[in-house]
Amino acid sequence: MASSEFELIKQHFSHLGSIRKDVVLGVGDDCALLSPLADQVLAVSMDTLVAGVHFLVDVDPETLGHKALAVNLSDLAAMGATPAWVTLALTLPEKNDAWLSAFCSGFGKLAIQHNLQLVGGDTTRGPLSITVQVHGYVPAGQALRRVGAAVGDQIYLTGTLGDAGLSLKALQGELPLDQLSTLRSRLERPTPRIGAGVAMRGVAHAAIDLSDGLLADLGHICEASGVGARIELSLLPLSIAVATYIKSTGDWQIALAGGDDYELCVTVPPHQAAELEQRIRELKTPLTRIGSIESGDSIRVIDTDGSTLQIEQRGYDHFRKAPPT
Ligand code: ADP
Ligand code: MG
Repeated sequence: MASSEFELIKQHFSHLGSIRKDVVLGVGDDCALLSPLADQVLAVSMDTLVAGVHFLVDVDPETLGHKALAVNLSDLAAMGATPAWVTLALTLPEKNDAWLSAFCSGFGKLAIQHNLQLVGGDTTRGPLSITVQVHGYVPAGQALRRVGAAVGDQIYLTGTLGDAGLSLKALQGELPLDQLSTLRSRLERPTPRIGAGVAMRGVAHAAIDLSDGLLADLGHICEASGVGARIELSLLPLSIAVATYIKSTGDWQIALAGGDDYELCVTVPPHQAAELEQRIRELKTPLTRIGSIESGDSIRVIDTDGSTLQIEQRGYDHFRKAPPT
């Protein structure tokens, strides 16, 4: 590695995020040294964002720094884990200090919000690509998994559906841009639902974060748990912008299959539903019941007129009206 690259690491990455007691040695040596807390399991997850695939090359770097970390934190939230450490592998086309400072600002602010310390990484030259690995704690036996949903469970969602998908449509020129300013932050600066995930420990049976769309991600819970689900269009939590768009187009796909929302979808046994609602209300996180778990292996979507749309496990491509029974 060229000396300028050591300078780059020192300047931008040697102190990013919080300073934690369970970090014996952070950035700067061959390895980080970490001292995990007793009685906790480590939850570890990694995501890569590639320029031109996951984001536009000219995206604002501050926003990109936020999103690269947020999508990883969302995975910790979905397991009920508390963030602790992060590593960052960056491939950069050039050394651009202004770009790096802005990226680190977006990344660092979110890291500090969640008491997360950057403890290591790798820096290489090439087409822009960002890989983030997060590590979090969850008390032994309390992680929220995709497996565990049971027939009769109530299905709940944090936040609203389809904002990121609608924003993407607008940015791609498929829609007028008038509502974009509020929606755009939902696409570019998602809020990882860490507090909600922790609060769901001990009450939720199963959980997942919504990255690929409600049907696809709820489908993962159903498949892992060996169950089906029933959701009602009239119950889906929608922002005004998405509700207005659906009203004028009839296009429910934006809510059912739009990706990048990073909300949590959980299933809860009926006797714990009130407890879940209270815990999440205390956090001031929006929470909405959208349906229930039932036997079978498909997701039934109940239309606003009461008819059933049958959704196969594989997702929205297989979206079709059920034959009359
Ligand atoms: P080595 O050659 O021993 O693998 P490097 O020269 O790649 O080490 O990295 C030197 C130090 O800087 C290591 O502690 C590494 O974890 C850290 N580092 C390199 N790139 C990054 C980055 N993008 N973010 C955080 N730490 C980094
Ligand atoms: Mg080394």
